[in-house]
Amino acid sequence: MKIFAPDYYGNFSCIADKCRHSCCIGWEIDVDPKTAEYYKSIPGGFGKKLRENIDFSPEGGSFRLCENDRCPFLNDRNLCEIYINLGEEALSQICDDHPRFRNFYDSRTEIGLGLCCEEAARIILEKESRTEIVEIGKDEEDPYPSEDEDVFFETRERVFAALQNREKAIAERISDAFAIFGAVSPETDYGKWAENCLALERLDESWTKVLEGIIKNPAPPEIKDENAAEQLLCYFIFRHFCPEYPKISLAFSVLCFYMTEKAAEQVGLNEAARLWSSEIEYSDENKDLILRIIFDEEVL
Ligand code: SF4
Repeated sequence: MKIFAPDYYGNFSCIADKCRHSCCIGWEIDVDPKTAEYYKSIPGGFGKKLRENIDFSPEGGSFRLCENDRCPFLNDRNLCEIYINLGEEALSQICDDHPRFRNFYDSRTEIGLGLCCEEAARIILEKESRTEIVEIGKDEEDPYPSEDEDVFFETRERVFAALQNREKAIAERISDAFAIFGAVSPETDYGKWAENCLALERLDESWTKVLEGIIKNPAPPEIKDENAAEQLLCYFIFRHFCPEYPKISLAFSVLCFYMTEKAAEQVGLNEAARLWSSEIEYSDENKDLILRIIFDEEVL
């Protein structure tokens, strides 16, 4: 089966100790079963440290987080001791994979970089040329032919083309994308959506402050950088637009975009993207609740 990715995908490498919001702090970190077995077999003092800092379970295990939810193997220079002692191939699957995400279709797998990583956000938002989705390899799975899926990818191409039409302002491009489905671009009530987000589980106190700031000033944001806005929109479409509910997932992607732009008034676009992604995209529960509101309110 073919694997596709945005054309910036290969530009990523982790900036490790230069990262201000390390993914090794503040998140539960699972250890996959194969890696857990490997860690059990490591001899000497480092092997002992591994076994003392992992809660093993039938599913593999998870690292026992330290103060401030730091991974126990993140040293005081914010470098990974497992990487230093055992090499990159010894990392558990989630550590090796982050910030990559995958979407599985019948005929292909797609892989992207998640905005919750500040280096991924920098690469995506600073990209000047139009983003293309390109084939980057193959895996061992056989494709499952589906005519419906061909229609979906053709439709997504039309959505990308509308959003990447640099002859038009961003709001017009979004209207054109909705017009593909015979729909009108819904109004975004920023204060209401900030209140909805405040009712969800939150990770970071600074996100709470941003939401409170939006409630105080719910006026629509000014789009300051149309190029970064285009990249942001295309990122959300690539990640969330789906064949099962295309109109709703388009509305969700556009909401992600507008709320990130609104949050950017307070913290800048890169940080707003990182916060939105960490708080909403990386929580299936939060994402589902927002999709449910879009669906129930029949905004389209
Ligand atoms: S958030 Fe990104 S850049 Fe920072 S440590 Fe994690 S993978 Fe590396």
